[in-house]
Amino acid sequence: MAEKITLVCTECLSRNYTTTKNKKTQPKRLEIKKYCPKCGRHTLHKETK
Ligand SMILES: [Zn+2]
Repeated sequence: MAEKITLVCTECLSRNYTTTKNKKTQPKRLEIKKYCPKCGRHTLHKETK
């Protein structure tokens, strides 16, 4: 039941990562700190469609 999602940098809105998640086990929007190559540092990335 894993669903493909995209993680977007909340500062420059670059779509840097794709991952999968199970909506049943993780119903909330993912928010992960990841390295953004455009910002050149770790920023908060959020789930988008
Ligand atoms: Zn960024």
